[in-house]
Amino acid sequence: TTEAAPQAATDPAGVPARPAGLPGEILHWIGGEAVPSADGRVLDVADPVSNTAYATLAAGGAADVDRAVAAARAAFPAWSALGNRERATLLNRIADAVEAREEELAAFESFDTGLPITQARGQARRAAENFRYFADVVVALGEEAFRVGAQQLNYVVRTPVGVAGLITPWNTPFMLESWKLAPAIASGCTLVLKPAEWTPLSASLWPSILADAGLPAGVVNIVHGLGPEAGQALVDHPEVPILSFTGSTATGRHIVRCSADRLKTVSMELGGKSPVVVFADADVEAALDSVVFGVFSLNGERCTAGSRVLVERPLYEEFTRRLAERAERVRVGLPGDPATEVGALVHPVHYRRVLDYVEAGKSEARLVAGGGRPAHLPEGNYLQPTVFADVPREARIFQEEIFGPVVAVAPFDDEQEAIDLANATAYGLAAYVWTSDLKRGHRVAHAVESGMVWINSHNVRDLRTPFGGVKASGLGREGGAHSIDFYTESKIVHVMLGDVHTPRFGADEQH
Ligand code: NAD
Repeated sequence: TTEAAPQAATDPAGVPARPAGLPGEILHWIGGEAVPSADGRVLDVADPVSNTAYATLAAGGAADVDRAVAAARAAFPAWSALGNRERATLLNRIADAVEAREEELAAFESFDTGLPITQARGQARRAAENFRYFADVVVALGEEAFRVGAQQLNYVVRTPVGVAGLITPWNTPFMLESWKLAPAIASGCTLVLKPAEWTPLSASLWPSILADAGLPAGVVNIVHGLGPEAGQALVDHPEVPILSFTGSTATGRHIVRCSADRLKTVSMELGGKSPVVVFADADVEAALDSVVFGVFSLNGERCTAGSRVLVERPLYEEFTRRLAERAERVRVGLPGDPATEVGALVHPVHYRRVLDYVEAGKSEARLVAGGGRPAHLPEGNYLQPTVFADVPREARIFQEEIFGPVVAVAPFDDEQEAIDLANATAYGLAAYVWTSDLKRGHRVAHAVESGMVWINSHNVRDLRTPFGGVKASGLGREGGAHSIDFYTESKIVHVMLGDVHTPRFGADEQH
């Protein structure tokens, strides 16, 4: 199934225009076999620099999802019956296999998504860490037991929920897939993954990675295709009781609605418009570094991007000017070039959407950096890192998730106004606070409506901590023990250890 596409010439930066080993077609992976769609349909997939097709992608539908769910159900009894240690051994082998293929994974991811290659390597390493981490979690997992008086014991049994449906977006796709795959299989679930249709290339490496690690066939199944077809069939499938979704708020809402009739367990990691609150007493250099990295790394296509920067009035003009200067110096270029800091946006449709926001911003606020295509990159979905200042809270570029290298800056006069502005959108994923007054840092962290807050720090997150948002940014948490809770059901068992004692009406009734 991996017919090598012709290797094109290298581009001016000396980077091959296409990575070696590119498949000509990407198929589903069901029950350990690469298969086309039942009806033979395919989609074209393109890279964001040439915007020309490099492969065809199997376009799945209900029949393919049915087969994949059947394969996952068939694999479930044996997989769920394995001990946690045995599953952990396999997870560690998967981590080894991911690490061994870091270069290939990064090259595929960078080519397919437009992510700078250096950042794609970091994402591949994080994917391996996810497997190692969840291997450790399940080995350490104990059973909970509670003594009730001297005679009774209550204990909790955890069982994997069954076949999990995982639906993932196109930003850092492989890492986000690993983020769901690792805890799902560690917990003993089997699963069907529906990767994002714009960026299926790195997912095409899962079959060989998982098979090389020795994962039994059918534990992980992959159905590619469009959201409203393959994704919807997974959402609606009666034998998929649990759905983990990462993507846009609009799709998340739709999936929750569809899940209501069957009361499916759902986890929703959705969009964000995260504020960065910079007080005048902040370490300005560190705050600037963090703001520039936080909104422009991963091409700004990051759910936790600090895309609204709120600056205390005395620092506002200086900070805005320096941020604009820094944005102008960010190196936009070919994703495969190690010097590149911002690559190409994922897809022409998304690029057009981001450009529309930039145009809207020009009439809503003051453009101080970027605002268009870089002159040296006439082709491909490139945008200069863009900074808007004096952005009013009603502006679309203040309220709506742009998901590109675009940042809105606005001033505030006091702490309460900073909190009000931080909370003035529908979202609540992440927030960042910069101040040398730690008491204030904590006060603001507590008052901001978000699932995660960083004080004088950016996006460093221990894998044990819960990840997720409030308001329109999501439902539930994943990460650490929260992920294991999600993929397992718990059942409490009550047992009498001493003499049998049956409560009787009118006698010594207890609980
Ligand atoms: P999207 O909602 O368009 O698509 C996400 C996935 O859902 C894709 O695989 C798509 O095919 C599928 N899908 C679409 N319609 C569906 C349907 N009717 N039924 C089932 N599946 C369907 O999102 P996107 O544009 O790919 O991703 C970007 C979004 O993801 C942004 O809003 C971003 O903030 C968000 N995101 C959130 C987090 C987080 O953890 N909170 C992380 C990364 C990305």
